[in-house]
Amino acid sequence: MKFEFLADKFRELEETSSRLQMTDILSDLFSESGEGEISKIIYLIQGQVAPPFKEMDIGLGEKFVQRAIATATGYPLSKIEECFQKEGDLGSVAFDLVSERMQTTLTKKRMDVDEVHGGLLKIAEESGSGSETRKIRVLAKLLNNSSPEEAKYIVRIPLDKLRLGIGDPTIMDSLSVMSAGDKSLRSKLERGYNLCSDLGKVAEVFIKDGIEAVEKIEIELFHPIRPALPERVKSAEEIMDKQSSTAVEAKYDGFRLECHKKGDEVKMFSRRLDDMTRMFPEVVEAFKEIDADELIVDAEALSYDEEIEEFRPFQETMRRRRKYDIEKMSKKYPLTLFVFDLMYLDGEDYTNKKYRERRKKLEELFEDKGTLQRSEMKITSTAEEIDKLFNEYVSRGLEGIIAKDLEAPYEAGSRGFQWIKLKRSYKGELDDTIDLVIIGYYRGRGSRTQFGFGGILGAVYDEDEDKFKSVTRVGSGFTEEQMEKLGKLLKEKLIEKKHARVDSEIEPDHWVEPKHVVTVNADEITRSPKHTCGKDEEGVGYALRFPRMEGWIREDKKPEDATTVKEIIKIYSMQGKDDSSDPSNFKGEPLNQT
Ligand code: ATP
Repeated sequence: MKFEFLADKFRELEETSSRLQMTDILSDLFSESGEGEISKIIYLIQGQVAPPFKEMDIGLGEKFVQRAIATATGYPLSKIEECFQKEGDLGSVAFDLVSERMQTTLTKKRMDVDEVHGGLLKIAEESGSGSETRKIRVLAKLLNNSSPEEAKYIVRIPLDKLRLGIGDPTIMDSLSVMSAGDKSLRSKLERGYNLCSDLGKVAEVFIKDGIEAVEKIEIELFHPIRPALPERVKSAEEIMDKQSSTAVEAKYDGFRLECHKKGDEVKMFSRRLDDMTRMFPEVVEAFKEIDADELIVDAEALSYDEEIEEFRPFQETMRRRRKYDIEKMSKKYPLTLFVFDLMYLDGEDYTNKKYRERRKKLEELFEDKGTLQRSEMKITSTAEEIDKLFNEYVSRGLEGIIAKDLEAPYEAGSRGFQWIKLKRSYKGELDDTIDLVIIGYYRGRGSRTQFGFGGILGAVYDEDEDKFKSVTRVGSGFTEEQMEKLGKLLKEKLIEKKHARVDSEIEPDHWVEPKHVVTVNADEITRSPKHTCGKDEEGVGYALRFPRMEGWIREDKKPEDATTVKEIIKIYSMQGKDDSSDPSNFKGEPLNQT
């Protein structure tokens, strides 16, 4: 496929915010894709060159991209800078300058998708001294062979500004529509995706050998499995109702790690499937010693003082950014890995086995002490026992419990009742925190003017529509340091108009790309005509009452990992109705900049 054709589809996608139209454009595009290029097309749509766990960073700073445009077009750097000042988007600058230059050049050979993907891959693979210059050279070469429209999109990819508004569910729906004419194959495609986390690979298998081959996709070492997630309920009685038999585990408040091992080779993936191996040297070393040749387990890492049985605060122990911090922190606050599930062992897939069996094997592999230890677990038979354990864990400083159905398989990539969380909460608070995607922000007023930041417009994820729906404005709970950082960070994500995947009737001062996830708490969830989250035929949605920021940006979560609309409705129904939940009592929502 010519890249020109793909760039044209990118333009069509950019021009629509209708999911139906996006699905049509994509299914059209996929039907034109060859076996060998479909995966590359999908990575490019996702703004990548490989699945996220492969750690292929194509990111290039604005300055480098400007130099590549200058080299390719022959204009001086000062001219590129000047145009960028005016336009604010290097994609448009590349479009304009390549158009001008085109008038003076002769016909040129059109590039294939393969060629563009290959060039970007080269940029990702370059490292070491002089790599910046080599990266600029590769990008300049691509731009030199581009039409204006091609140049616009090629420039946006390494800048992480492609913004087509396409999420993974839309890609899966489109693959299904391409082949079956409807979305009926989505769940089978999703199962394959849940096991390998590589949508490019799923599409390639699908196009080559059909849905039967997708159904046969198996777990592969060093390809993360999408994590299972717990549902929430209000009480121990409800847990008893939902599960056939229950084992109660401690809910640790740390960093989720999926650990893979083959002989001495170990890799650890975060919840959003990024490769985190480098960050946890002490755990990696210990993991090598486990008596299994091939192993995949699910675990939570946190700092724990075994002698005084105390968990150290998560934020404090996880400051591991640069190489120096990693070394320092792994000595100062070495982590303990609490292993809570087993997915794969020596060639055998354990995800389809019952938790009872998985746990038995897990107990053979991991002890109840040391750097790697199995999670605490007790089999229960009454609601009173569950309550007792819950209170015990909470009094020991844990977050609560996760109740696990002894007869259930490991449900990769989904939230279900096979796991149920019960978290501690305080009076006047929701039973659970809410993870919001930042979709816009407010200019700081009064004492906040100096930060250029006064609060955020937050959204939750609508899985059915693959969109982010507004649910609240948050102006409280930020420290001065956070406001300063957010002011800077969000400025980098500014967009001129509402993002195609955002559904909001409220206009913030600035729209941003839906990228960052933050955790907030609130007094309660109310019905509200102002927000689009869960909006019904009468135009009434849901909103958070008195929301306040907790912690910092959740780097372990993608926007799609934010709280979902369904979860908001669930939490609302769990809190019971009172006057303030009645939309007729909704008094509007001030942005409290305190
Ligand atoms: P939080 O914001 O508290 O981290 P979350 O929104 O990321 O929670 P929840 O759905 O509340 O996620 O809870 C699921 C998370 O609980 C898992 O992703 C995992 O990281 C963590 N966890 C801790 N202990 C366990 C356990 N024993 N079994 C399963 N998950 C556990």
